[in-house]
Order: sequence, then C-alpha cells, then structure tokens
Amino acid sequence: MSEAREAPVIVVGAGIVGICCALYLQRDGRRVTLMDPREPGEACSFGNAGLLATGGVAPEAMPGILRSVPGMLMNPLGPLAIRWSYLPRIAPWLVRYALSSRPRRVEEISLALAALAGQVLPAYEPLLRSAGTSDIVRRSGWLHLYESEAAFQASLPAHALRRRRGIRVEELRPEEIRQLEPDLAPIFARGAFFPDYAHTVNPKRLVDVLAADFARNGGTILRDSVRGFRIDAQGPRAVVGDAGERPASQIVIAAGAWSRPLAAELGSRLPLDTERGYHVMLPNPGIAVRHPLASTEGGFAITPMEHGLRIAGTVELGGLRAPPNPKRAAAMLTRTQRMLPGLRTEGRSDWMGFRPSLPDSLPAVGRSPRFRNVYFAFGHAHRGLSFAAITGRLIADLMAGRTPVIDPTPYRADRF
Ligand SMILES: Cc1cc2nc3c(=O)[nH]c(=O)nc-3n(C[C@H](O)[C@H](O)[C@H](O)COP(=O)(O)OP(=O)(O)OC[C@H]3O[C@@H](n4cnc5c(N)ncnc54)[C@H](O)[C@@H]3O)c2cc1C
Repeated sequence: MSEAREAPVIVVGAGIVGICCALYLQRDGRRVTLMDPREPGEACSFGNAGLLATGGVAPEAMPGILRSVPGMLMNPLGPLAIRWSYLPRIAPWLVRYALSSRPRRVEEISLALAALAGQVLPAYEPLLRSAGTSDIVRRSGWLHLYESEAAFQASLPAHALRRRRGIRVEELRPEEIRQLEPDLAPIFARGAFFPDYAHTVNPKRLVDVLAADFARNGGTILRDSVRGFRIDAQGPRAVVGDAGERPASQIVIAAGAWSRPLAAELGSRLPLDTERGYHVMLPNPGIAVRHPLASTEGGFAITPMEHGLRIAGTVELGGLRAPPNPKRAAAMLTRTQRMLPGLRTEGRSDWMGFRPSLPDSLPAVGRSPRFRNVYFAFGHAHRGLSFAAITGRLIADLMAGRTPVIDPTPYRADRF
C-alpha cells in the first residue's frame, strides 16, 4: 500500500468546525487525526453567543451598509468599529464587503445562507445523539429588541428577506415583549421574535462532548501547530508541525481565523480576515431570562446558559494581533444593565474571540481549487457554531464522492 492510502485524514484546527468535520469523516469509517496546539474549542468556539441560527439567512453586509462606515471609524465602542491602525490592512476586505451589499448579490448570498441554515439542526442531531447530549441544545426562539421605532423600521428589509426565505418572524408590541420576558425594562418600542431559533446552553461543553465522542470512537487529537505541508508532484503528502512531519491522505483546513496562511501555502489566496467579538459572562445574574435576546442597537446577544448569562457580540475590525479593548465588553454590560434592571455582576469574566470572516458572509467549504486531497472548512464568521455540523457533513460527502446534501457551489474557495 502507498503511504497516501495508509495515512489518516488530518483535520487542522479543533474548533467546533474542525470537530464536526472530524466526526462526520469518522462516521464514514475514515481514520482521522485532529491537530491543534490548543485544547479543543479554546479559540472562537469557546465564547460565542450559543445561537443555532436556523434563520440566519441575512448577510452581514445589507444594502445601505456604507452609510455606517463613518460611525464605525468614529466610535471605538460602537457595535461595529474599526481600529484606525488596521484600516490600510482591512481596506481591500471592506471593498469586497461593500460590494456584497448590492441588492442582487444580497439575494444570492441569502439563498446560499438559507441552504446552510436549513441544515443546522438536522446536521447536529446525529452528532449529539451519538455523544448522548441532546439536552445541550434548546429550541427557545430568539427575541430581537428595538429601543426606537427608527431601529425597528431599519430592520424591516432584513425581516422581509428572512420571510422570503421562509423564516418565521413575529413582530411584537411592548405589551407582547413584557409577556415573553417580564424582567426586561419597559424601554423597548418594538420587538421581533424568531420562534424557530435554537441555542446551546454551553458552547465550550458542546465542543468537549463532541471531542470526547470522537476520541472514544478511535479518533486521535494531537496537540501540535501546523506550520506547513510537504508537497510532492502528486500534491500534499504530509503536514509539518512543530513536533515533526505527519503523513496525511487528505487534509482539511479548519483553523478558523488562522486559516489564511495555511490555505495560501496550499495555493489558494482567500480574503479571510477577522471580525473580533467580545463576551461578558455573569455566573449569578440574579434575574431570569427565558429566551436568548438581541440588543439590535448594541449589536449583541444575551443568552441564558447553564453556567450563567452570556452577553456576546459586536464587531471590531482590528486583526489578529492587537490586544482586546476591555471598554468594548464594558459598554455591552452597561447597555445590558439598562435592559435588565437588577442584573448582578459578581464573578464577571470578559473574553474576546476572532470570528473567521470572508467579506461575503459565506464560508469557504469544499475541495481546494488546487489539490484534490485538500479541503477547506473555514470562514464561518457569525455563524460558525450554527454551520459547523452541516460543514462537516458536506466535507464528508465531498470526500466520499457522494452527492452532497446541499449544493456546495456558493461556498467554493475560488469565488473571489
Ligand atoms: C462574540 C461572538 C459571538 C458569536 N456568536 C455566535 C452564535 O451565536 N452563533 C454562531 O453560530 N456563531 C457565533 N459566533 C461565531 C462562531 O463562534 C465562530 O464562527 C466559530 O467558533 C468558528 O469556529 P472554527 O472552528 O472555525 O474556529 P475556532 O473555534 O477559532 O477554531 C480554530 C482552531 O484552529 C486552531 N489553529 C489555528 N492555527 C492552527 C495551526 N496552524 N495548526 C493547528 N491548529 C490551528 C486554533 O488553535 C483553534 O483551536 C460568535 C463569535 C463571536 C466572537
């Protein structure tokens, strides 16, 4: 047997996307090794808002986004901010971001998002069942809150888009908001409820139980950082880590926001950057929140979790190197205290994570344009938790040569 046939599939990156790829490949009977210098789920997948975006069909760059650019530059604590020092680096990404906000492109992107969104729960279901933890996901809906009528009106095009994709949106008056969430302050002019959303009560435990299931079924998790690849005339034959070379039959790049240089080394240049986001975790909030909430003006979610209340979101374009800005987390907390009077903050912890973002709100999922035994599974931006399982399923379908469960064309790496 040749080295290539004997070697395992190597999945680079043990975030939620890498774990789901590894699990789906393992279900096909493949020998799989996950490589990551960190423990599974310690990067972006650790601290997200936990929402399983079954209705996540509206791209980030909606028509009119350009109007918010001056605000992004002027207010470092706003829901969308750019660090001035990073502006020259991110400018080409921003241009593509703006181009994806053209109405026709928004419609196309939304269809591609809807195909993934329709598979969020069906794709997770067999993984959760196998891991014996179906209770880690709850179908609770998601309540968007608007402090002003103007903010609500501004969201109507996105709601119309969601409805066109078959997503249920219930528009609420203040009295209906109070019935759903009695502990909220009476400061909201309008609400929108998405009854079909689900959420996980603990994103990190979700990764842990899935990683444990992978290991229990014979998968290997290696603590090593991938630095490069050994490429011969047939293509990549091994990954090169700090601890040496590891032969690989196939390689899946699922290294989140750090995937760009790895993909480049494999001959594909993708405009991957990061949308940094923050969270504040309150272990004893002292109030009951029944559903995940969204402060639309603040650009963040508030999610009831098994270990407390998590306030998570906002976007900061600042690259992978700049230190976190603790004031951004504090600004989310201040707004939340206004929304939820009586909120207790003892034991609070703050966090920042790097969303892996391509400028058109779609991930890169599929076979590398350059090498037949290389697959890409990164760039999931705001919906990586949601789309991880369907990504794993798609990668396994493509590697096996089966007709994929959904058409993978919109996620091709060479679309840029
Ligand atoms: C504040 C916030 C809120 C969010 N809320 C939601 C939400 O509610 N719902 C949702 O669906 N999504 C949400 N997201 C997005 C989601 O968390 C991400 O899209 C997702 O976690 C990305 O997963 P990943 O596996 O691609 O990346 P990561 O979790 O970042 O994992 C990548 C892994 O690759 C490893 N790696 C990097 N370089 C190498 C290398 N050279 N060799 C080996 N390994 C390497 C890293 O160590 C890391 O473990 C949120 C994100 C943020 C920041």
